[in-house]
Amino acid sequence: MCGIIGAVSQRDIAKILLEGLRSLEYRGYDSSGLMVVNSTGQASRLRCVGKVNNLACAAEHATLSGETGIAHTRWATHGKPAESNAHPHISTNIAVVHNGIIENHELLRDQLQGRGYTFYSETDTEVVAHLVHWEQQRGGSLLSVVQRVIPDLRGTYGMVILDTDSPDRLIAARSGSPLVIGCGVGENFIVSDPMALLSVTRRFIYLEEGDVAQISCYGIKIIDRCNNIAQRCEVELDTHYDVVNKGVYSHYMQKEIYEQPSVLKNTLSGRHNNSFVELHELNEKAYSLLKKVEHIQIVACGTSYHSGMVARYWLESLAKMPCDTEIASEFRYRKSVVRENSLFVTLSQSGETADTLAALRLSKRLGYLGSLSICNVASSSLVRESDFSLMMKAGIEVGVASTKSFTAQLVILLILVAKISSLKDATSQVEREIVNALQILPSCIEKVLLQDQLIAQLAQDFSNKNHALFLGRGDQYPIAMEGALKLKEISYIHAEAYAAGELKHGPLALIDSDMPVIVVAPQNALLDKLKSNIEEIRARGGLLYIFTDAISSFVGSDNIYIVPLPHIPEVLAPIVYIVPLQLLSYYIALIRGTDLDKPRNLAKSVTVE
Ligand code: GLU
Repeated sequence: MCGIIGAVSQRDIAKILLEGLRSLEYRGYDSSGLMVVNSTGQASRLRCVGKVNNLACAAEHATLSGETGIAHTRWATHGKPAESNAHPHISTNIAVVHNGIIENHELLRDQLQGRGYTFYSETDTEVVAHLVHWEQQRGGSLLSVVQRVIPDLRGTYGMVILDTDSPDRLIAARSGSPLVIGCGVGENFIVSDPMALLSVTRRFIYLEEGDVAQISCYGIKIIDRCNNIAQRCEVELDTHYDVVNKGVYSHYMQKEIYEQPSVLKNTLSGRHNNSFVELHELNEKAYSLLKKVEHIQIVACGTSYHSGMVARYWLESLAKMPCDTEIASEFRYRKSVVRENSLFVTLSQSGETADTLAALRLSKRLGYLGSLSICNVASSSLVRESDFSLMMKAGIEVGVASTKSFTAQLVILLILVAKISSLKDATSQVEREIVNALQILPSCIEKVLLQDQLIAQLAQDFSNKNHALFLGRGDQYPIAMEGALKLKEISYIHAEAYAAGELKHGPLALIDSDMPVIVVAPQNALLDKLKSNIEEIRARGGLLYIFTDAISSFVGSDNIYIVPLPHIPEVLAPIVYIVPLQLLSYYIALIRGTDLDKPRNLAKSVTVE
């Protein structure tokens, strides 16, 4: 969601800014813009609605020369996607790009209009440009001016400010939205995501909450929230990111679905020894904390929330560990009661999800025993701010709809369940069963992927449907929810998930021959109960798609389609059964012709509230 890139260099910078914006595209945005300025203060700004390619085409016909510049991909929060609302926003000599939300923008707008400023956009961001301009009249360096403006801002921001009168520097400020300095040779950069800079540098300095920084060609100065000069470590990233390479696949989402067997091997690698879990990334302190844990509070959003729901079933049934799972945006604004010796667990692919981060920060004031994050980005805010972390090792996920990061997250959660159960039970029986099952997981998923042609064929039935219902019971209920979410996200078909036992409490009224009902029905103790629910649908002429174990006794007919799946250890069912649902959504979206790697209105990492 939204991206920033800024540069102070000695070479023309527009091309690098555009390239950086292209590698931020996967995060989701609706418009983009850039501004460059040369050493004599001559500036040019270009903004476009739609893809970065529109901006790149416009740039070919413009004269964009300058060694200092800022660029932005905008995911509109205040004001529609329009050229006038795209960043950078300017106030005479001041230009600003901003990720986040200035919550008190209305009050500031009124004050600034009172001082004679004219607004040219509907955004919250424009107030920052005018405020900095106003404050600059009071004197001082650009850095000190920005520092004086910050106390007036409420909300969240990662922002970069350029002054065309001092084109040798950029000022960056971070509060609630990530910013990272990219260190070059005779040039420096500032970005919201290091991915945007991998073609120019691999050396980065992560700004912390409340930091304000000044970057120039040869200097970096960081002031922390207490107004002290901060020394932050430089880290070297070894990530490789080839954003244009989808290999043999048509979409990143397709590639990411099919690479799950190898991704999960990677997630598991080095984390077990024969039948026992090995988590070298947890230190002595983490283990002694885990031994004390009597309750786990999981907090997450979207797909990660669904894996947190599965973990609750696993933790209580397998490790006998009380657990609650809650949506981060609810948790953070609710007055909750902290259970005795409770561990706070956050789940997020990017580690920058604004609500989850806010919930983590809140948890520190609430008296939890400690915090653990499960994440895919080692350098993310969530990992850096948690007491300890487990990395998903899923590789970069580009498709906006999460696939491999969901299954990798589930694998880590299951490993954690095994570890927690072994800390409580000296026989380690559950641990052994889980680890033995996990070792065959990649091959189980390979077998599921062999059903892709059957699933692609069934997808045809959905091409003109407007609604779908997903059903599951027990740990398959969150899988039904995740299946429905995938369908909504990329095919724009309205889909709802229900715990199958809830059917008669309302949704049964929706059943007719036009309503597809997708049922996840692995072999387990609830299968007979689920079969009764399926009969209730059949009796009302519903159209059924049943994903089930090949050895179950379901028989297909005119309005019952069976997708047989391999026989698997029960504990793996949530991880295995989501894969055919990912494929189903993928093929439905393909038929409907949506932009399935970048669905409308959505963003990869949700960095605003
Ligand atoms: N709130 C700002 C706007 O709507 C920034 C949005 C973003 O983070 O891209 O323009």
